[in-house]
Amino acid sequence: MPETTNAPAGLEKVRAEIAHACQDAGRDPAGVTLIAVSKTFPVEAIEPVIGAGQRVFGENRVQEAKSKWPTLRERYPDVALHLIGPLQSNKTREAVALFDAIHAVDRPSLCEALGKEIARQGRTPLLFAEINTGAEPQKAGVLPQDADAFLAACRDRYGLTMAGLMCIPPQDEAPAPHFALTAKIAKRNGLKLLSMGMSADFATAIALGATHVRVGSAIFGGRG
Ligand SMILES: *Cc1c(COP(=O)(O)O)cnc(C)c1O
Repeated sequence: MPETTNAPAGLEKVRAEIAHACQDAGRDPAGVTLIAVSKTFPVEAIEPVIGAGQRVFGENRVQEAKSKWPTLRERYPDVALHLIGPLQSNKTREAVALFDAIHAVDRPSLCEALGKEIARQGRTPLLFAEINTGAEPQKAGVLPQDADAFLAACRDRYGLTMAGLMCIPPQDEAPAPHFALTAKIAKRNGLKLLSMGMSADFATAIALGATHVRVGSAIFGGRG
């Protein structure tokens, strides 16, 4: 079980740190969206955070999101839900129906499935391509050297409008070069959104242009 924590207080602290990071970077805080990552936490832990005004949440599994969010969204229709974890092509239908953004688009088979579902459902979630900036074999994402071709295929072959890029730097490395590389790839491909930065490094990510930070444990506490 995750340890209990005062999530609204965690949220308050993260908001203040985001404001501070924006000030340091000379950026408008309105340009940084906080995604509160509620994976593993039950509805009872999430509701107080909604009560404290948070409206954008992230989950990393379709099944778990399906079990938690339909009731919450009925109660709070203005909440937006982001899928931040990997997506299996056979869950694309559910994902397009449930999520307002999908952060880990990383392969042609998924692009094809997404293109079909977006056309079928008439829903247009924000799409981020995940870049495997550390070229880690166990990690999802497109290799940096393949990113331009992948993004061109998303557009020309699969008819997808990509909104931005996402990365998860290797755990044992300084994150800044990975954020900078992701920002550079986005810029040369004309993409405006950057999903980067987690609890440990969101201030660094904001300094390097993050528009979406995905923060879990700093708000909800440890996942045990
Ligand atoms: C869990 C997760 C996060 C949040 O991580 P914290 O360190 O708890 O802030 C962010 N992004 C992804 C893709 C995750 O799976």
